[in-house]
Amino acid sequence: MSARLLRFALTAGLVWPAALPGQGAPDPMPAPIALVGATLVDGTGASPVPNAVVLIRDGRIACAGPRRACPLPAGVRRMDVRGSWIIPGLVDAHVHFSQTGWVDGRPDALDLRARYPYDRTVEDLEAHPERFLRAYLCSGVTAVFDVGGYAWTWALRARAERDTLAPHVAAAGPLLSTVSHPIINLGDEQQILYVPDDSAARVAVRSHVAHGTDAIKIWYIVGMGSDTSALQAVVRAIAAETHRLHARLIVHATGLWEAKDALRAGADVLVHGVADRPVDREFLDLALQRRVIYVPTLTVYDGYRQVLVRHFEPHYPLACVDSATVARARSTDSLPAPTGVSADFVERQRGLAARGLALGEANLAAVFRAGITVAMGTDAGNPLTLHGPSVYWEMQVMQEAGLSPMDVLVAATRNGAVVTGRGGDLGTVEAGKLADLVVLGADPTADVRNVEDVRYVLRDGALTTPRRAAPR
Ligand SMILES: [Zn+2]
Repeated sequence: MSARLLRFALTAGLVWPAALPGQGAPDPMPAPIALVGATLVDGTGASPVPNAVVLIRDGRIACAGPRRACPLPAGVRRMDVRGSWIIPGLVDAHVHFSQTGWVDGRPDALDLRARYPYDRTVEDLEAHPERFLRAYLCSGVTAVFDVGGYAWTWALRARAERDTLAPHVAAAGPLLSTVSHPIINLGDEQQILYVPDDSAARVAVRSHVAHGTDAIKIWYIVGMGSDTSALQAVVRAIAAETHRLHARLIVHATGLWEAKDALRAGADVLVHGVADRPVDREFLDLALQRRVIYVPTLTVYDGYRQVLVRHFEPHYPLACVDSATVARARSTDSLPAPTGVSADFVERQRGLAARGLALGEANLAAVFRAGITVAMGTDAGNPLTLHGPSVYWEMQVMQEAGLSPMDVLVAATRNGAVVTGRGGDLGTVEAGKLADLVVLGADPTADVRNVEDVRYVLRDGALTTPRRAAPR
């Protein structure tokens, strides 16, 4: 059980209350408002603008910049945010609403189906996505990309779009996989579609595009003894059909070999980054040529390690997480110890996880230095990578890998928006874009950990506080 777990893990302010809108859900058509006096960090990488104005009308940014550039029209509601920082809403470019953030959603990692039947877990995920949607908004995340899940995740997009207490959602639908993985599928519904040959590849891509998918995601897994040339042919068939139908291709490829092959096949986004060995010149050249976006997901592996050692170590505040999810996460500490696993083995795994993280950080640094576009993604939904606040830890580790706070902010806003396919509408604080903003109480360009200090979140101009957005 534990070896399988590890194998998978390695591959795989309460201010100005009077200025708030009325009680309950935010006003869907808020009146024009001007945020005045904060330092603006617009998500483009440009220098921060002190004493800025962000003017919002009809849910969009009408003007953003220094005061002299954005005169206030008569009658506009002014909100004094001196002493704050404004950033674009964060974008988590890699989440899974078909997973809970604990092992009940990943019986392939730790099989607790006797206690938590998997079909009931999935039923509950489909019926109650609002707890996770609110956890994101509460954490300052105003857009997410669900890069693989059950077909109902496509329907989540329209629902979230209408709800200003939810992030915008993009979805890739069921993953197209090079391996069969029945344990996290249901009998009559699959989140992982095994694609054995070219014709199955074409049928699957066409069906996804007919659903209006935001991308095609491949789970590129090379099993022991696999016929790699057959897998390469399937990946190329998927890529060709995807691009023929003008869709974008996201590939999960954690090994250097698979990642290079995915780039040669035509990947547009690489998720997880390379986790088995250092990236080399050939990889960097392929990635540059392909103009791929690299979404490293550095912290998700540690969640699996926490499950292995039966100890939940949240690296972020839990105030934005619903109480049932927190209770399950904390119950990790009282799970029975795995049978047949020595203390030595656990210690070795701890070492492997630490080396894996160091390698992931080094690869991210190399990729970033080479000029490859990087976006932030957490892989939330996986065990102990909780929907919402896990973005804070991922951003912190990206900073520890050597990116400047500003580089991390651009990755977590503008570049993430490009991954979702809505770069024209989201991701930066610029005139014309949707007014998705976070007002912070501390300087995120001094230390990206200051992004945790969320005072207000605005989605499409509707303003709320973390306290009001938090799920129960
Ligand atoms: Zn994932």
